[in-house]
Amino acid sequence: MKITGVRVQSYRIPLVEPFRIALGTTSVAEIIGVEVTTDEGLLGYGEAAPAKRITGDNVEGVKYAIGLLGEAIKGMDPMDMEQIYWSMEKVMAHCSEAKTALDIALHDLMGKILNQPLYKLLGGYRTEFFTDISLGIDEPQIMAKKAKNAVDEGFHAIKIKIGTGFVEDINRVKAIREAVGKNVTLRLDANQAYKPKEALKIIDKLADYDIELMEQPVPWWDFDGLAYVTMHSPIPIMADESIFNAKDALRIVEQHAADLINIKLMKCGGIKEAMKITTVAEAAGVECMLGCMTGETNIAITAAASLGAAVKNFTRADLDSTFTLTSLPMKGGVSFQGGRILLSQEPGLGLLPE
Ligand code: MG
Repeated sequence: MKITGVRVQSYRIPLVEPFRIALGTTSVAEIIGVEVTTDEGLLGYGEAAPAKRITGDNVEGVKYAIGLLGEAIKGMDPMDMEQIYWSMEKVMAHCSEAKTALDIALHDLMGKILNQPLYKLLGGYRTEFFTDISLGIDEPQIMAKKAKNAVDEGFHAIKIKIGTGFVEDINRVKAIREAVGKNVTLRLDANQAYKPKEALKIIDKLADYDIELMEQPVPWWDFDGLAYVTMHSPIPIMADESIFNAKDALRIVEQHAADLINIKLMKCGGIKEAMKITTVAEAAGVECMLGCMTGETNIAITAAASLGAAVKNFTRADLDSTFTLTSLPMKGGVSFQGGRILLSQEPGLGLLPE
């Protein structure tokens, strides 16, 4: 089978409500959908959800990059992923989101060619697992009410966005813990908001509220600061914006800069690179979470969920972006019952056009 072309389409989906994190607020998801076509009529679906504050990618740049990368892989066999991966690396450095869109579509195709759901093709470790749900930065009482509602809907883990200051952050976490009781997992994400010593000061106080982990307390470039916080924090520290690819993962584990790693397909360039990251992490005894960017639709979320189900070292999931969207571009794929992620048994991603 040969790849004959790549179709690209960008579109916008309004969020149910604006989503605020320490880096900024998002109101509309900007999505780039791709369809990889083949000479035997099979189609592979993928997408990018440019997160310019994190990856530096935007819609126009990603579309341009997909055009160049698509030309480079035309004529190749979609099963030859290693060859395709290195061909894309030769065309363009970085630009992870464009590579991810194609990588997802090619994995969808591989599943269809082999007539296997993607989670089985990638390893088939589990058939279901659980996602948390993220709460954007807001007034403590509003966040507490949303947290309680989420628990009532069947979520067992809440991810709390923080990073606007010591007192405000403590008030948020306190209000949420009081609202949900002691049996719900609370994880925090400061999205780079603090300097290392500020982070430790706030973590020391937050530890009173039984916190499972904190993501990215310090700026992405401050590996020494991240290592300092990790060394001294009573709460496990997870690297997110500091780690894009397997080389970053190696640096994180060599420096003992984090206890845990958050892998997102949009940061790393796709499923193939994500497998490399989790392999490096697993060898160092570091567990991984599968995360997502705000705005990812059921295309990227199905790909991420398939990977999460395939590999033992993914012990946590934060795959909640579809809950925030007012519509989805495709039918099928992954589905949810509260926080429970249910994998499709259809070949590839199991997605169909609306
Ligand atoms: Mg994060």
